[in-house]
Amino acid sequence: MNKTVFVIVDGLADLPIKQLKNKTPLDYAIKSNLYKFTKHCKFAYPKVIGKFAPESDSGVMADLGYDPFKYSTGRGWFECLGLDMQPKDGDLSIRVNFGSVTNNKLNSVRVYMSDQELQELSEEINKKVNLREEFQFKAGEGYRAGLVFHCSKKTFSQFVSNNEPGYTANFFNNGVKLSFATGIKNREIHKIKALKKEANYTALLLNEFISKSVKVIKNSNVYKERKKRGLDAPNYIFLRDAANKDPKLPNINEKYGRNWAAVAGMPLEKGISAAAGMTLISTSEEKNIDKDFSDKAEKTVRALSKFDAIYLHIKQTDAVSHLGKFHEKYAIIEKIDKIIISRLANVLDMDRDTLVLTCDHATSSELKKHLNSNIPVLIANRRFSYSSDFSEANCAKDHLKEIKKAVDILPFVMSL
Ligand SMILES: [Zn+2]
Repeated sequence: MNKTVFVIVDGLADLPIKQLKNKTPLDYAIKSNLYKFTKHCKFAYPKVIGKFAPESDSGVMADLGYDPFKYSTGRGWFECLGLDMQPKDGDLSIRVNFGSVTNNKLNSVRVYMSDQELQELSEEINKKVNLREEFQFKAGEGYRAGLVFHCSKKTFSQFVSNNEPGYTANFFNNGVKLSFATGIKNREIHKIKALKKEANYTALLLNEFISKSVKVIKNSNVYKERKKRGLDAPNYIFLRDAANKDPKLPNINEKYGRNWAAVAGMPLEKGISAAAGMTLISTSEEKNIDKDFSDKAEKTVRALSKFDAIYLHIKQTDAVSHLGKFHEKYAIIEKIDKIIISRLANVLDMDRDTLVLTCDHATSSELKKHLNSNIPVLIANRRFSYSSDFSEANCAKDHLKEIKKAVDILPFVMSL
């Protein structure tokens, strides 16, 4: 059977940057290995979720053919599923960031720690925070963690605000909950608010969890040690996207009659893949980018012998965009070309197979935030003829009319 590799490069798209000769990092990067694929390809240039700037969860869902406005019950579900916390319908699943606050004003929503520090701090919260409800707190990666309150006699509600100030929760029909990247507007610290009366208990519980966790963090060795060494020390936690329902995504293997696997290292993307019914190929996020890319390329190639379609997720481009490092962003795109695309170019048979290269949303590395821009999509398949270099501008100029929204990408690709 013909094979499909679907690569999502997180926050790949960007705006033109003066210091890069008014090109975007994608346009500026030299992508010589991608030439094998642009010889037979078409571009698409869809919106992701309309006028809103997507978070990664809605971007990845849309790319994989799941309309976030139909299926999303809150990012927390996927994060906790991806951390193997096995949330059940009725449990409350939440994404957590370790951050820092100075004089009751926001300092940072992301305090990066070593795996060991994050692990240690998370275990202390698990052990030392006493609440009226049972919970599990689990370390993720860098500054991230997951929190699950297990369903009890009291019903948990999804109708709570985030205290993470960059993302605003929105509610739609049938329990659909989606956060949009609205940006950090000031340095105020907010409590979690109940947005409906039924959420009073949930908001109370979460605020109690935050204040008790903050005490544990400030008394921890990790905090004291980092302070002593003059490092940014976490002293606050930010919660977002509480979910209390299984999003019940239709199984991707049954939907398209193909056997899917995912090579993704981050909990969110693992969670979405697992919820879609993909087989997860065991992968972690290596700190060394070259090693990370070689490892992921190798795992993708190996998985091709057993699976019909592979979803490969690359995270680093979004992380450097949030830090404003556009020089690093184009350098990472060149590495993707050199290490991953070159490997795929050797293995994929362009008389038969399909490569898709796209992103979940645009992230401006000058504004350091997600944008609501259209996303560039490359679809390489033998039936297409030569296209120009892969860039936002070239996708805007010449693209498939069938793909208007990101949810249209996968049905189109699977029909090739
Ligand atoms: Zn993303």
